[in-house]
Amino acid sequence: MNIKRFLALGAMILGVGFFGASQAQATPHYTPHAPCIDWNVASTSWPTANTGDTHFFICDGSYQNHMNPSPISISGVRNAGQNQSAVVKTKLLNAGYDLFVFKSVADYNAYTGKNFPVGIGSLTTTNMSTDHPGPAIVILEEFCTNPPTGCTTQNYTDTARLVNHEVGHAVDNIMGMPSLLQGTGKFVTQFDIDKQAFDLLNPNTINWSGLPGSCTGGNFAKLKCWLNVIYPDTNPQFYREFWAHCYAASQPSGGYLPQPHTILKNYFKTGGMAPSGTVRSCTIVNNTAQTP
Ligand SMILES: [Zn+2]
Repeated sequence: MNIKRFLALGAMILGVGFFGASQAQATPHYTPHAPCIDWNVASTSWPTANTGDTHFFICDGSYQNHMNPSPISISGVRNAGQNQSAVVKTKLLNAGYDLFVFKSVADYNAYTGKNFPVGIGSLTTTNMSTDHPGPAIVILEEFCTNPPTGCTTQNYTDTARLVNHEVGHAVDNIMGMPSLLQGTGKFVTQFDIDKQAFDLLNPNTINWSGLPGSCTGGNFAKLKCWLNVIYPDTNPQFYREFWAHCYAASQPSGGYLPQPHTILKNYFKTGGMAPSGTVRSCTIVNNTAQTP
């Protein structure tokens, strides 16, 4: 499958709804049907609340007895439930975001009655189906089912990074699209400043190891290509994608792919560019996300 497409398409599908605290759910609010099961794990917050109000659903059809969740499911819930901060988990919980793991795009289509373009590995949507009329973060195991051996440890790590990206979109959604705000100290304005400063750096001082040969041009053009952001720099979706990338880059497990996210973190979050002392765009993202 084409994993590269998912990052762009995930945002394209993302709606613009705002989900406030009024939609907080204190009791189970969704009963999954086959092949999905709710997965209750010993967790104290999203995606499984301490009330038993699970927000995590395994839909790969192989683990119907809550006994042996697939490793990628464990990876997903571990990342989503433990790696995100308490503040972010509360945002996701109060806004009703659920996390689903499907085996494949086809399984997702069958469950939701919606068709997604082949190649999406993970996405966030504000309305998954009429059956589940709320937002969801969806992970597809197809991403790691590389025949004949199936998932590898690296795939589980990559899944965690995919979840980080989609949580970035979710937080942006929940908070009313701060990714599109302009003005001093706001994301769009600072990101434009950071882009210019990044392009002024000597490219030989940046670690481009692993950069695809098809990614050429200035520093930012190469980084944008590597992260597979397909939108023009003036398109709102451009800023929404980099918002999500910035959020993922700020998390302990980072973003997918790890190398360009490291560059993003090194130059758009801390240090490396003039003027020094500037609160850079990815810091704005993380500060915003971590503000209750
Ligand atoms: Zn995205």
